[in-house]
Parts: sequence; C-alpha cells; structure tokens
Amino acid sequence: MRFFRQNIRLPKTAVLLVLAAVIAGIGCGSRSSYVSSPVAVRVPTPDTRVAAPPDSACPPVPIGPPEVVEKSVASLGGPKTVIHEVGPLETIWRISRMYDVRPQAIYTANGIGSKDVLRIGQKLVIPHARKLRYVINLYHNSQWHYIILHHTATDMGNAKTINLAHGARGFWNGLGYHFLIDNGTLGKGDGQIEMSPRWIRQQEGAHCKADGMNDKSIGIALVGNFNNESPTPNQMQSLMFLLRILCNYYHIPSPCIMGHREVPGAATECPGSRFPLAEIRRSLSQTFSSRK
Ligand SMILES: [Zn+2]
Repeated sequence: MRFFRQNIRLPKTAVLLVLAAVIAGIGCGSRSSYVSSPVAVRVPTPDTRVAAPPDSACPPVPIGPPEVVEKSVASLGGPKTVIHEVGPLETIWRISRMYDVRPQAIYTANGIGSKDVLRIGQKLVIPHARKLRYVINLYHNSQWHYIILHHTATDMGNAKTINLAHGARGFWNGLGYHFLIDNGTLGKGDGQIEMSPRWIRQQEGAHCKADGMNDKSIGIALVGNFNNESPTPNQMQSLMFLLRILCNYYHIPSPCIMGHREVPGAATECPGSRFPLAEIRRSLSQTFSSRK
C-alpha cells in the first residue's frame, strides 16, 4: 500500500462540498449537550497572558532553533517523481527532508530559486523521491503542559483546506491546531503528519478555549468524523508516534492527554465517540512506566 497518493485528482464538486462543510462550521468546535467525565489533570497555572494579537503582530520567528525528529514511514520502492502540494509554511528544506531529495534538485525541477516564496497549494515536482519521512520540529518551550486531541468532523481535509476554513470562521492566524494527521484525502497521505504554522511559530492554539487550554496545550487533530468511524490504522500509528515524542520532550504525563470533550467546560462531542482516548492513555502510560 502506498503511503502517499500522487497527484490525486478529485471531482471539483467533491472538493467544494467539503470546503463548504468545514466553512459552515461542522468542525470540532461545534457544541452539543455532551457532559464529560472528570479526568485527573495537573492543577492549572494562573493564566496571565493577554489576548492573542492580530496576525500582523505575530512574530514569524519561533523560539530558538528546533530540534528535528525524522522517521522513515515508507519506501517508495525506488526513486520516482511525485507531486507535492505545498502546505501552510512548508519550506523546500522540510519537503526535501520528507522525500530524501536534495533541495537543489527540487529547485531545478521546478525552475525556482532559493529566494522564491512558496505559495500554499503550489504543486511541486519532486524528482527521484526515495522515502517518505515524518519531519517533526521540537522547540524549547515551557508553555506546553497538556495535549488536546480533536477530530475535524469532516470526511476530507488537509492543512491547506482547514487553514482556509478556520480563517473563514475568524480564527486568528488560520489553522487552529498545532498538528494535523491526514486520512489520505485531498492529495495527502493516510497518516501524514502536517505541522501547522502555529507550531512552527510556537504560538498558542485556537482549538480549545475551555479551561485556558489554548495557552497551555498542544492541539492535535485527526481528519475524520469519529462519531461515524474510527481513525485509520495509519492515523493511529502516526498519532502514537507523535504523542510519544511530544510527551517525552515536554514531560507531559498520559493523564494530561485529553480529548477535547474531556476538558472541563468544553461542551462538544469532539473527538467523537469512536476515538479511543482511554486506550491511547493506557498505551502511553505503559510505554513510559516500562522505562523506569
Ligand atoms: Zn475539538
């Protein structure tokens, strides 16, 4: 099974329908009468931060250079040409790491230079792609004490379309999550991890206002509606990989990984009744306790 789909062409009507759905607000922020059960969490620290600034005031530079974690997820079975659609704030350097191709080869194949600015949605030819890798940046930042898990409540999506939808809903700085795990639709791989500009800039989230979580939690969303179906095996594999890295790096214990609906004060079904929250926490607690 190929992990990434190449240059998938979807009927325009299908793309427009999903865009209309997410823009209409069928996202994880939708409200219901769901009442969450209490979960043991850290005592919240006093929140003294001011309201998020407008986009133009947001610093584009992250907190120090990141450490970069890479992991091969699939072999392409020999060098081949693939088409990559540029996501929000992706760089040639990152794309070159993802496919194990030199940046210069990508510049040459696309007739662009290192000073050219990439456009979101731009289609790039990636020549002689050999591998597909996760490329995850980790920044020194004491801000992150929780991880909140979401679903997009849509059948399709990627960072580009959800960035557009969240911007249309008035979320400052677009895509409200820090990471998005794709489900193999709209040209992205099943289980592909996309880093949000919000993570690259180390900005607070726009994914869970309840209990001040936007300021102190990392927001991860999986594409799908998990009231109707379960996450794909590839999505779960990617999520567990990402959670292990983040929990280890930021010293986040498994009880502090919460579904959106479990946050006190959050009135939502997100991330859906079929999302395996308890199993995820149990698996992570076993991982870390076995290291002691
Ligand atoms: Zn949510």
